[in-house]
Amino acid sequence: MSKTYYVTTPIYYVNDKPHIGTAYTTVAADALARFHRLKGEKVFFLTGTDEHGQHVARAAERAGVSPQEWVDTMVVYFKEVWERLNISNDYFIRTTDPKHVEVARKFIQKLYDKGDIYLDVYEGWYCVPDESFWLPSQLVDGKCPQCGREVELVQEENYFFRLSKYADRLLKHIEDNPDFVQPEIRRNEVLSFIRQGLTDQSISRKKLRWGIPLPFDESQVMYVWFDALLNYISAIDYGLDDEKFLSIWPADVHLIGKEILRFHAIIWPAMLMAADLPLPRCVYAHGWLTVEGEKMSKSKGNVISPHELIDEFGVDAYRYYFLREFSFGYDGNFSRESMIVRYNADLANALGNLVSRVIAMVERYRDGSVPEPSGCKGDADAPLREAASEVFGRVDTAMERFAFNEALQHIWDFVDAVNRYVDETAAWDLFKNPSQSDRLDEVLYNQVESLRLLALLLVPYMPNAGEEIWRKLGYEDSIHQHHLPAEAGWGLFPPGRKVNKGKPLFPRIQR
Ligand SMILES: [Zn+2]
Repeated sequence: MSKTYYVTTPIYYVNDKPHIGTAYTTVAADALARFHRLKGEKVFFLTGTDEHGQHVARAAERAGVSPQEWVDTMVVYFKEVWERLNISNDYFIRTTDPKHVEVARKFIQKLYDKGDIYLDVYEGWYCVPDESFWLPSQLVDGKCPQCGREVELVQEENYFFRLSKYADRLLKHIEDNPDFVQPEIRRNEVLSFIRQGLTDQSISRKKLRWGIPLPFDESQVMYVWFDALLNYISAIDYGLDDEKFLSIWPADVHLIGKEILRFHAIIWPAMLMAADLPLPRCVYAHGWLTVEGEKMSKSKGNVISPHELIDEFGVDAYRYYFLREFSFGYDGNFSRESMIVRYNADLANALGNLVSRVIAMVERYRDGSVPEPSGCKGDADAPLREAASEVFGRVDTAMERFAFNEALQHIWDFVDAVNRYVDETAAWDLFKNPSQSDRLDEVLYNQVESLRLLALLLVPYMPNAGEEIWRKLGYEDSIHQHHLPAEAGWGLFPPGRKVNKGKPLFPRIQR
């Protein structure tokens, strides 16, 4: 039996409500998970929330509630928005779950028993919002090099993880496996960081109470990042259910934002090496989004909630825009204007109109029932068939590289090919001439067959649109039971079925 395809998002820090940046990673992970399900694979798609740490404890204090009450309130915002965005995660992990706590304690005990964790004095600068320690040499103008905020001097006895011990093995692994850290710009960043030498990492905190107590020293809690990274194995029952764990681990890909690259491409693999566990196949760090050319920040007041855009454009258009507009590995700029342009050009004009036209012609010329293909060929057929036979392979290749925008470009090339076919075959002319009746049957069948393929292709990116086209084509079962490339062959649409016009897809946005 083949291994389950395992895709993860980072677990999101519950200090804030989700915004379009948070949703960006989750929508991409969802498209990936759905794409692998479309291929008929078993998939485990994990997301969740990071609920420990000083920043959460302080936010709870400000709100006048206990940390647990605070995280219980905040987690709802995440679950709500993922539901609205049609996120199909198989599990939702919270680091306050008893299961996670148990696994994290087992894991750290294993490393302690092995001698990979030791007690030492820690002195350094600490950025509370980022939960990051910095050396004096790393500070920029005395402030956090990552976020530019004030840092605090911390000195205390902490437990350290022997990260330095794994530096050579890690370097070799990244050199030998070019796909382990992607895209290449991030891989080079990680390689040069490791080559400068790795120092052991403080992995516990003494003063803080809101965290997981160390099993070998209850006076200390786990450093929040050490705790958080373990979600990827606690969610699939590491140390609790070996059979389940081994059928899912290692992860095929951890999708992350580039700000947490070092944790995922250096510390996490070293932790796994220390525990004698296989490494994930890939860590993919995507770029950052700006809003109308500016960095998103609370102080600028330009943080956009996904709800606003879903209200205005709909869920599928939301998903489409973010996957299509940006090259996943690089930074991108969100603008309302570009979203309207994409919506009207790609969704309303190219896709929505195509679906309406084809359904309307079957209704007008064949009383709504899809004719049997007559075998009466024309010049326009070959290019359409060729486009249809090639599209899935191209999409698949793009998805292997996490190039969501390219995958959608290939699907829209196919949309264009079908639109061309509709124009060139001019069913309205064939209809006027009774001697062309056989050709009209063939043409209408080919158009419907193209929509069947298109509906399946769209499912990972726009699950509702895929399902709606499926209904318009008269299918009564769920499109999610169907697979590609298994059902990519031409001629699988059963003739005689009645089409349903229904509501138009993606009505144009007037402005
Ligand atoms: Zn910071």
